[in-house]
Amino acid sequence: MKERIAAATRQSGRNIDEITLVVVTKTFPVTDAQILYELGERNFGENRNEEGLSKKELVGPDAIWHFQGQVQSKKIRQITQWAEVVHSLDSVDHARKFADADNANALKFFLQVNLEPSRADRGGVSIAGLQDFLGEIAGLKNINIIGLMTVAPLGVDPEGAFEEVAKAKNLVQKNYPSITQLSMGMSGDFEEAIKYGATHIRIGSSILGSRPAQA
Ligand SMILES: *Cc1c(COP(=O)(O)O)cnc(C)c1O
Repeated sequence: MKERIAAATRQSGRNIDEITLVVVTKTFPVTDAQILYELGERNFGENRNEEGLSKKELVGPDAIWHFQGQVQSKKIRQITQWAEVVHSLDSVDHARKFADADNANALKFFLQVNLEPSRADRGGVSIAGLQDFLGEIAGLKNINIIGLMTVAPLGVDPEGAFEEVAKAKNLVQKNYPSITQLSMGMSGDFEEAIKYGATHIRIGSSILGSRPAQA
């Protein structure tokens, strides 16, 4: 895996230091995260609050936990107790609730972009809606948006999807200079994502094996 990431980075003329590997440990036992920690991994991704909360306690204190699942309002305060990076912000209401949490200014956020407007259930703000969304949350001093996140839609060329989100990032960065990062690329498409500027790749199954289907 490290070899493939390094190769994709070289081919894109990029530096390996620009890429953060987030190992998505959701549904896998905490022992997997502990072993990866011993091997030097520090970034772990979870999509359920309870699972992240309990795993954080059992893995080295300098591990960085990433929340990348759909946010539920009533879980927000708890999410802020274990996650340092939230990849899936897509609601102004949620942003306000995060801003009210005690340690809100210690968190970093990616704004999730949905490239399939017909699949609103997937979560994410449409490309067309990004400027309005950012305008609405601009007054929330504690909400530090560092980048855009996406999941490439099934059945389309991931390169086109990643290129579109990279362009959108460059556009919004003009008005919001803190938006510099791109969270995109999973087991099946991280090489394409690196080509289009991903700074955070979220990889589970190709490191840890296939996981049972999630509800
Ligand atoms: C599960 C998940 C991943 C990891 O997917 P793999 O295909 O196992 O690499 C990445 N991002 C999100 C948002 C996920 O839910």
